[in-house]
Amino acid sequence: EVLVGNLIGEDHVNYVLMYNMLTGIRIAVSRCQAKIKRPLTDEDFTARHKYSFDIVGNELTPSAKYDFKFKDYAPWVFRELREDYFRLDPADYLLSLTAKYILSELGSPGKSGSFFYFSRDYRFIIKTIHHREHKFLLSILKDYYNHVKANPNTLLSRFYGLHRVKLPRGRKIHFVIMNNLFPPHRDIHETYDLKGSTVGRIYPEEKAAQNPRAVLKDLNWIDRKRQLELGPEKRALLTEQLRIDLELLKKIHVMDYSLLVGIHNMQRGNRDNLRSNTLKVFSPDMPLVRRRTSKVKGGSEDDALAMRRAMRESDPRALTSEVTHLNEEPVDDRQYFVFYQDEGGYRATDEFNMPEDTIYYLGIIDICTPYTVVKKLEHFWKGLSADRHKISPVEPAEYAKRFFNFLTAVMRGGGGGERFKAE
Ligand code: ATP
Ligand code: CA
Ligand code: CA
Repeated sequence: EVLVGNLIGEDHVNYVLMYNMLTGIRIAVSRCQAKIKRPLTDEDFTARHKYSFDIVGNELTPSAKYDFKFKDYAPWVFRELREDYFRLDPADYLLSLTAKYILSELGSPGKSGSFFYFSRDYRFIIKTIHHREHKFLLSILKDYYNHVKANPNTLLSRFYGLHRVKLPRGRKIHFVIMNNLFPPHRDIHETYDLKGSTVGRIYPEEKAAQNPRAVLKDLNWIDRKRQLELGPEKRALLTEQLRIDLELLKKIHVMDYSLLVGIHNMQRGNRDNLRSNTLKVFSPDMPLVRRRTSKVKGGSEDDALAMRRAMRESDPRALTSEVTHLNEEPVDDRQYFVFYQDEGGYRATDEFNMPEDTIYYLGIIDICTPYTVVKKLEHFWKGLSADRHKISPVEPAEYAKRFFNFLTAVMRGGGGGERFKAE
């Protein structure tokens, strides 16, 4: 529930897992990246590349500190998603995650048992996922890919990679890499996880008063009379994108997703210093790539620069691609997207479409929960006691409708959350 990360040092229980995840990503992603890009085939959606790491190393994998196995799922699909649609610079992606082996752990903020890790520059999140979510994501990968391709401004979580680490005793850990919706350089003054459901959807206000990083819910939003303050133009764009994204979520038959909303008040600025702990160690105001430090595990900054150059040189597109550029600083991919273009977010506007002093950071997260038998059972039991339409596990079309109605009601001019509550 709390957005603070703990840096993972060598004495941390999950250090080995982190080391293995990052080593796997570093090797697998750069292997794929080193090849010349080609059009995707159907097989790419089911492809999996296996790597076996040990302390000796072999021709495919360099030596590693621990023995483990790594699987890279649909590497070509994710490469294309990252480069062509999410507009990530390939070198930046690898550098952010693996130039130094530093992650901070968010622990397990949800009920699901997933763990969250931030890359050291706070741009990427690694989320461990349950095997069933993993299988589900693979099963809908083509739909997801087609959706993103057709809708570059989608609000859905941006998935950059899907992998698995297998530890020697056989424990398998699946994880995805996705975008952090929140920017490293701004305090988020309020955070909401909105589902459009009102039953049980409250974070206790007494606790919230103590904790400015708390993730608030639908009823807090309504009680605090929050609105998405958007003028007609931005309101229309957001409404339309929500509609399109919900079509996909209905099609793939999922529910339980949320709109994550971070609110930055520009008047308040960064005074409260609510950003992650990570940032106290690595100030994002400094260009990460330029900083020279002594040798660290996983390579040094000099290696990082060399890696970046080598990747550019091995990629023939580097000469022509507008995304690639010759300076050594990370590119801001967010500038290309409607909902992330104002300082990484979507700035509030008034009724004349003129900017106001709030920036919203928005995205639809947790989109891999299909409406399965489990949910049907839950529906049955809860349905006996509560109003059937308000409880969380409703079937996907109904879930999407309720989600859409709530969000359009809470946009300024949409009638406000009060009306929704009364309905
Ligand atoms: P549950 O299934 O119990 O809801 P979960 O483990 O699947 O939990 P999520 O709902 O994906 O977790 O996320 C939990 C919280 O982590 C969110 O409410 C949000 O605060 C944070 N979070 C998740 N994804 C992102 C993201 N892409 N950017 C920023 N914060 C995120
Ligand atoms: Ca969730
Ligand atoms: Ca979940």
